[in-house]
Amino acid sequence: MTQHNQEKSKQTRVRFAPSPTGYLHLGSARTALYNFLFARNTKGVFILRIEDTDQVRSRQEYLDEILDDLKWLGIDWDQGPYYQTKRKQIYAEFADKLLKKGQAYEDEGALRFRMNKDQVRVNDLIRGQVNFDASLLEDLVIIKSDGLPAYNFACVVDDIQMNITHVIRGDDHLSNTPKQAAMYQALGYPVPAFAHIPLILGQDRSPLSKRHGATAINMYKEQGFLPGAMINYLSLLGWSAGDDKEIMDKDELIKKFSLDRVNNTGAIFDIEKLKWINAEYIYKLSLEQLAGYIRPVLEKADFSKGIKDDQWLISFCELFQKRIKVFSDIVETAEYFFVDDLEYESQAKEKYLNKEGVGVLLGRWARRLGNLENFNTEKIEADCRQLARELGLKAGEIIHPARAALTGRATAPGLFEVMVLLGRERCLKRLTNLKIYTQPAPKPCPLGRG
Ligand code: GLU
Repeated sequence: MTQHNQEKSKQTRVRFAPSPTGYLHLGSARTALYNFLFARNTKGVFILRIEDTDQVRSRQEYLDEILDDLKWLGIDWDQGPYYQTKRKQIYAEFADKLLKKGQAYEDEGALRFRMNKDQVRVNDLIRGQVNFDASLLEDLVIIKSDGLPAYNFACVVDDIQMNITHVIRGDDHLSNTPKQAAMYQALGYPVPAFAHIPLILGQDRSPLSKRHGATAINMYKEQGFLPGAMINYLSLLGWSAGDDKEIMDKDELIKKFSLDRVNNTGAIFDIEKLKWINAEYIYKLSLEQLAGYIRPVLEKADFSKGIKDDQWLISFCELFQKRIKVFSDIVETAEYFFVDDLEYESQAKEKYLNKEGVGVLLGRWARRLGNLENFNTEKIEADCRQLARELGLKAGEIIHPARAALTGRATAPGLFEVMVLLGRERCLKRLTNLKIYTQPAPKPCPLGRG
C-alpha cells in the first residue's frame, strides 16, 4: 500500500472499459458513472477503453449503442476511446518482456503466463482485504493463438500504459484481481488501487438479469426516462451522499461523490424508486421542454391529430406534468383526448354513470354549455355551480359524473381544464351520449310477492 500513498499526490486516472459484446446495461452504466464521478470529484482524468478482443462476440451495433448511451447519460470522457484491437503491438512488447524474464512460455501457439501463486491477497477500497484460494490460480494464456491478447493481460498492460491509478469496476471482476496483481508484479509495476462495486440485485436478491425486466439503458431511454433522473438513480444504487438528500443533479453528485461511501453489499434495483425520481425531474421541466418530449410520444402513439396547436399542447402538458412518472405514461393516462370511442372504466360506470337521472342531468348541462358565450374554465365552472344551485345539488354531484362521461375514468385531472382542452363540441357529444347511461337493473322482486 505504500506505493499508493506515495502516489496520492498524483492526478487520479480512471477508466471505463466496456466490451462491445452487449448493450450498456444498468450495471455497466453505474460502473461508468462511478468512474466518471470519481474522476470529476478528484479533478482527475477519465478514459474510455473499448475491450474488443473477443472477435466472435463483439459487434459494431453494440459499440455504437454504448457510446450513444454514455453521451445520453451525460457521462463524457477525457481520453479515448482506445480500442484494444488497435493496440496489438503494445501487448506483444509487454509479452516479450515476460518471455525474456522467463515469466511466460509458449504453449500450442499461445503464450502463457507463469502464475506467481503468492498474490492471493487483495486490498480493495470497497471490499477491504480479500483472500483468494491459491490453488485456483493457474498459468494463464496472455496472447491467444490468433495473436490477440487475453482479457486479463490486455487489461493489465493498458492500465499500466494508461497510468491508471484506480480500477473501479464490477464485483464480477474481483476474482480476476489476484491474477492481474501477479502480472503487475512480474512486469515490475505497482498495482493500482482497486474498488469493486457490489452487484445490482433484483427484488428477489438474485443478480439483476433480463428476467427482472429491462436491463439495457437504451430501453429506459425509449420508455421516456430522463438522463438526469437515470444518473441520479444509478448513483444511489450502491452509494449515498451521507445526508438524506436523494434528488441531486450531476454537479451535486460530482461534488459529493466518494468511494468510501460506496456500500459493500449488493444494491437492490427498485423500478418504483427510479420512476419516482424521474417524476421529480419531469416536474422540474419547463412546459416548453415537457412539450418537446411529449409531442413525439403522442405522435408515435398515432395521436398527432389530437394536438390542436402548440398552445393546446402546452396547456395539455400543464395538466399532466404532475400526473406522469415516465413520458410514455401519457399515452394511457390521457388517451381520452385522442380517441373517439372511449372505454368506460367499470368504476366510472358503477360509481357515477349507472345512476338514475344522471343522463338527464348531464343532458341538461350540455344544453346550457351549448349556449355559453365563452367556453373557458371560469365560465364553465360558474355555469356548473349555477346549475347545481338551481337544482339544489352539490357541485360535485355534477362534476363527478361529468368527468366520468367525458373521460371514461373515475379519476382525471381538473374537470374544467379537461373540458376546455377537449373542446365544446366533443364535450357536448360525450355528455349527451345516451349509450353510457345504463340505469341500474331493477331490483328483483322478493319471492312470493310477484
Ligand atoms: N471489459 C470488462 C467488462 O466489460 C471490464 C474489465 C475491467 O474493468 O477491468 O466487464
